[in-house]
Amino acid sequence: MKQEFEHLDIERIRKDFPIFNRKINGRPIIFLDSASTTQKPVQVINAIKYYYENYNANIHRGIYKISEEATSAYEESHKKTGKFINGKWNEIIFTKNTTESLNLLAYSLGMKLKKGDEIVISRMEHHSNLVPWQQIAKLKGLKLKYIELTKDRQLDMGNAEKTITEKTKIVSVAHVSNVLGTINPVREIGKIAHGNGALFAIDGAQSVPHITIDVKKLDADFFCFSSHKMLGPTGIGVLYGKEEILEQMNPFLYGGDMIREVGYYNTTFNNLPWKFEAGTPNIAGGIAFGYAIDYLKKIGMDSIRNHEKRLTDYAYTMLHEIEDLEIYGPDKDSRAGVIAFNIKKIHSHDIADILNRENICIRSSHHCAMPLHRLLGVQGSARISFYLYNQKEEIDKLIEGLKKVRKIFD
Ligand code: PMP
Repeated sequence: MKQEFEHLDIERIRKDFPIFNRKINGRPIIFLDSASTTQKPVQVINAIKYYYENYNANIHRGIYKISEEATSAYEESHKKTGKFINGKWNEIIFTKNTTESLNLLAYSLGMKLKKGDEIVISRMEHHSNLVPWQQIAKLKGLKLKYIELTKDRQLDMGNAEKTITEKTKIVSVAHVSNVLGTINPVREIGKIAHGNGALFAIDGAQSVPHITIDVKKLDADFFCFSSHKMLGPTGIGVLYGKEEILEQMNPFLYGGDMIREVGYYNTTFNNLPWKFEAGTPNIAGGIAFGYAIDYLKKIGMDSIRNHEKRLTDYAYTMLHEIEDLEIYGPDKDSRAGVIAFNIKKIHSHDIADILNRENICIRSSHHCAMPLHRLLGVQGSARISFYLYNQKEEIDKLIEGLKKVRKIFD
């Protein structure tokens, strides 16, 4: 088994992450919660420090040197992000996170819809890709419809064909479920949406960090993701949108920097992407996010995906050694590096709490997907998730920990 894990130099990679030097009660941290947020390499941490120590200034305002440096570094990050997903730099809007990107879409697109227009999402959405659509639907008298799931918790494509109709104006689905790990056939969903004249948005919070993304190949009208789930800082998210569609949309937030000309009674708006970036942004975060992208590119997205796939396959097999443990979602071949499970009669908080005593960090509860958990017939689940810095030995420790959990409850 060891050989299979040796294509990436994980020991070398881990040296870039200062947090792995920390010991709690003399033992290292085993971090299995990267779907929630990832750890940060020193290159990203240093980029933030360097900005504040050397060229801290507002962007798009000063004509002095350090302001020009800050502006250029912040814009460079838009360029890096564009290249990373094969979009143009002015199609990249920096927001606070995936949640804000989706709120921007729901508000800007939703406000233009008419009573009776339909929005389609799926039964496996994170609250971020559910609540904004649900609330705009209530406000505007729109109909919110759901694509159903199959028994093995994939999107039911037959049902998608029926649910998306000519009344549908927007379809928005997760690329990868943060609970089930399902990788959804977004290209096909997009084709159905476009075939019915609807716009197509993808919640890529759990895919961009782990899989090579080409927004052109996917033919996504919009793609949303978060820096903090891909080694970057918190407080920076991305909304990619096709230029011609973004041009037609109204801004979500109004104020400084997003304007061209302001009068007491009228305003014209700035060029893309600034039309959607009102006020002073998270400059340090935006710049450091570019360094996170550099880091991922240096390692290689295909190598990252391969590494995570091996870890996921291994964990999936090993978890079956634990009695009465149920894994949610499809089999190991159709999933990303997220595994949610329950052990019969043991609360997910208890599992997480006992593992915490061994410094093993996992997530418990509903993972911002309450309706999905209800559909699964449970209130919550325990969830493990991997990234490029995880090792097979950490999964072995997790399995030992879970065996202890079983023993305590037996
Ligand atoms: N969508 C999915 C699928 C997610 O996993 C998450 C984060 N758990 C989000 C959206 C929201 O991301 P953020 O909290 O960064 O806005």
